[in-house]
Amino acid sequence: MTQSQKYRITLLPGDGIGPEITTVAVDVLKAVGQQLDITFEFQKAKIGGAAIDDTGDPLPPATLEICRNSDAVLLAAIGGWKWDNLPSQQRPEQGLLGLRAGLGLFANLRPAKILPQLIDSSTLKKEVVEGVDIMVVRELTGGIYFGQPKGIFPTESGEKRGVNTMAYTESEIDRIGKVAFETAQKRRGKLCSVDKSNVLEVSQLWRDRITQLAPEYPDIELSHLYVDNAAMQLVRAPKQFDTIVTGNLFGDILSDAAAMLTGSIGMLPSASLGASGPGVFEPVHGSAPDIAGQDKANPLAQVLSAAMMLRYGLDRPLAADRIEQAVMQVLDKGYRTGDIMSEGMTLLGCRGMGDALLTELENLKS
Ligand code: NAD
Repeated sequence: MTQSQKYRITLLPGDGIGPEITTVAVDVLKAVGQQLDITFEFQKAKIGGAAIDDTGDPLPPATLEICRNSDAVLLAAIGGWKWDNLPSQQRPEQGLLGLRAGLGLFANLRPAKILPQLIDSSTLKKEVVEGVDIMVVRELTGGIYFGQPKGIFPTESGEKRGVNTMAYTESEIDRIGKVAFETAQKRRGKLCSVDKSNVLEVSQLWRDRITQLAPEYPDIELSHLYVDNAAMQLVRAPKQFDTIVTGNLFGDILSDAAAMLTGSIGMLPSASLGASGPGVFEPVHGSAPDIAGQDKANPLAQVLSAAMMLRYGLDRPLAADRIEQAVMQVLDKGYRTGDIMSEGMTLLGCRGMGDALLTELENLKS
């Protein structure tokens, strides 16, 4: 039996290929919504370069307000050459940072899944990456990027000294830990916490708190790795991982390394979640200004972000499953956009890929 519900979704198409890939994701959401009796009420707002052009501000207060009053935010990408020379505080990226801060998004979820149809896109050997399905849960608002003191200070000897501080409180560790355990529960039940507790006190506290959370999740198998070993294991034997949880700096690096196991940036979604309120769901790639407006963009990362929104933001796993199945089917049928094209496959544009997805969704219905 399906449960009928209405969700208010804020769309932030942003810049470059953003509007094109958002159109495809919206069509897919509408189609799956019709099938499963879910109603989406979409509202659009501006962010990044588009918002700078409109208001001079990469995150106008009205945009943040609309996001706050929604159930989830589907963001595409921001930035482009046009705004590259603005002072850093007025650049499109500030829109993203402001959105994360404004919505209190402290957990970033980045899946790295090898799709059998695209296995040749990986630079690693087939037998190493075949079957890889990893989720990196990264703490997003604490750690060394935000800890105080920070800055470049003069020393008594007259030279300068650069300082950043890696700091986590118990409550900051607990809240990301809970998201990670719950994420592992929605996956294969294995969680690996990554730290540097052999050297860093902040990591010792991290390991203690994560270990103390474990009894609340008896269904989860918890392990710990030092970050240097985790980096090695990710390229040596990535199949051993299910869910990884780690701090801001280690997560920044490991999530990119994990993503590149797949080799195809146009396929990677992400989610950023807070304690309550709407999460933000967006592809990992940027605004691809080199192909914007040419109907060449791969919309699948955006479509898979919409699936993550259904699974992790709105708790509608069946709808998420259906979208992910449709993506698998179009790939099985050999449809490809330019970025993932290979010999013998059928080349489609962004719109064509959207149409192929709608056809597959229709087929899945029956
Ligand atoms: P990019 O991800 O936009 O593009 C890198 C390369 O991958 C380009 O050749 C592009 O054409 C290709 N590509 C990316 N996504 C694609 C897709 N869906 N389909 C087909 N090809 C795709 O990274 P970049 O070129 O370094 O940055 C371009 C702009 O995007 C910059 O202004 C940058 O600041 C911004 N950016 C934004 C985000 C974000 O919004 N989260 C992330 C990264 C970069």
